[in-house]
Amino acid sequence: MRREGTNLEEVRMEDVLCDYCHSSWTLDRPMIEGHHGSCICGTCLRTAYSAVHLGGCNDATDGQTSKCTMCLEERPDACFHSPAYPDAIICLRCIKMAAKALTRDPDSNWKPPTDSTTA
Ligand SMILES: [Zn+2]
Ligand SMILES: [Zn+2]
Repeated sequence: MRREGTNLEEVRMEDVLCDYCHSSWTLDRPMIEGHHGSCICGTCLRTAYSAVHLGGCNDATDGQTSKCTMCLEERPDACFHSPAYPDAIICLRCIKMAAKALTRDPDSNWKPPTDSTTA
């Protein structure tokens, strides 16, 4: 997301906020952007990756779909809800895509956690 009052002509790093923890984008906090300016930072992505991809956690209940904040689709698959901002949801597909993108980015220094205890 963008910080309130962001000049859209000239978006600065500190105007880009993670939808899942509302931290701003810094050099040591890589960000992956979704649709409509939605973003997830490396820290939240790591938590989501551990919880959903490795831990099999699924916050979606009773076959309900959740609207993913990143891809804006109603997703029936496993989703991660931000503990701090429950409206911020990321689906497993977006978690995997974001993890791939961050892993490929040499500047991000980001690696996916290898098991659910290393988050
Ligand atoms: Zn975050
Ligand atoms: Zn998604």
